[in-house]
Amino acid sequence: MPEKVLLAEPRGFCAGVEMAIKALTWMVGVFEPPVYCFHEIVHNQAVVEVFEHAGVVFVDDITDVPPGRPVMLSAHGSAPDVVAEADERAAVMIDAVCPLVTKVHHEVRRMAADGYDIIYVGHAGHDEAIGAVAEAPEAVTLVDPTVGLGGFAPADPAKVALLAQTTLGLYEWGGVLDEATTRWPDLWTARRSDLCYATTNRQTAVQRLAEQVDLILVVGSANSSNTQALVRVARKAGVAAHRVDGPDDVRAEWLEKAEVVGVTAGASAPDERVKAVIDAIAPANGVERLRVTAEDEYFPLPPRLRSFVQVLQRLVEGAFAVKDQGRKGPLENDRDWGATDALQLLARS
Ligand code: SF4
Repeated sequence: MPEKVLLAEPRGFCAGVEMAIKALTWMVGVFEPPVYCFHEIVHNQAVVEVFEHAGVVFVDDITDVPPGRPVMLSAHGSAPDVVAEADERAAVMIDAVCPLVTKVHHEVRRMAADGYDIIYVGHAGHDEAIGAVAEAPEAVTLVDPTVGLGGFAPADPAKVALLAQTTLGLYEWGGVLDEATTRWPDLWTARRSDLCYATTNRQTAVQRLAEQVDLILVVGSANSSNTQALVRVARKAGVAAHRVDGPDDVRAEWLEKAEVVGVTAGASAPDERVKAVIDAIAPANGVERLRVTAEDEYFPLPPRLRSFVQVLQRLVEGAFAVKDQGRKGPLENDRDWGATDALQLLARS
């Protein structure tokens, strides 16, 4: 039975998820329900349930949003026609796309405009891949990292660009990159790849965990791409690994022969779920942390949401002759609270 839990740092919420959860919390606070959200705001069952309880309706088709209702678009990035349709039908439309996903959308548009054949390495059907490919579908070929480049034949071997979903496994990206570089020496790719800092840091931590533990449990939901990548990275490193959404998923037989259990969490998994999983493991000698790097990335709330809330503040101050009009409000203090605070606030209300 487990003697110790080795807890990965960093793990859990990334800056993009923090921003998206706080942004949707603002929407719920400002508007009467229902507030609509195109796709799950982040891919985590617990987070989605909190928002559903607070009056958010998640839709997979933007035309399911009744005209005139407020709508938010998820952190994974949406196709241009979805953004346009949402803007058209919603009273207020806020796009909570992560800036690092926006960067990839920008790359797709730029390379397509420059006449490149674009290979996008990602998972078919994932929200992020759908949104990115839709920026220039005529120029993009989606390649699954487990399949490789196969018979892909560009019109001009000197004009091939290789882009990626932000949450791929590092080794998966490396494999496709090596193959593409060999086949097309003039290959264009982002200088530091499209894999985001959170993906890189969490996977690096899992690789370090794998050197010291008998079993790794990754907290996160089944549709979370970066969570699934963490499981694959752990297994690739030779350690038994399982994904769990919460403590009920922890199986006694996994723990029977594991003295040291590594625990980490995908970028959309709340830390309270991690604590509950550790309680279920019940290590005899407690928890030790394994930190590979510190993270201090911060993404501000979407500009349109900031403007909207500031206008509301001015209207309220003017209507009620508030003293000290224009003083700093909660928007300026956004760094001082986190997505965990936001979810706790919603859970209490
Ligand atoms: S995992 Fe990376 S790309 Fe995705 S939301 Fe987080 S920071 Fe952004």
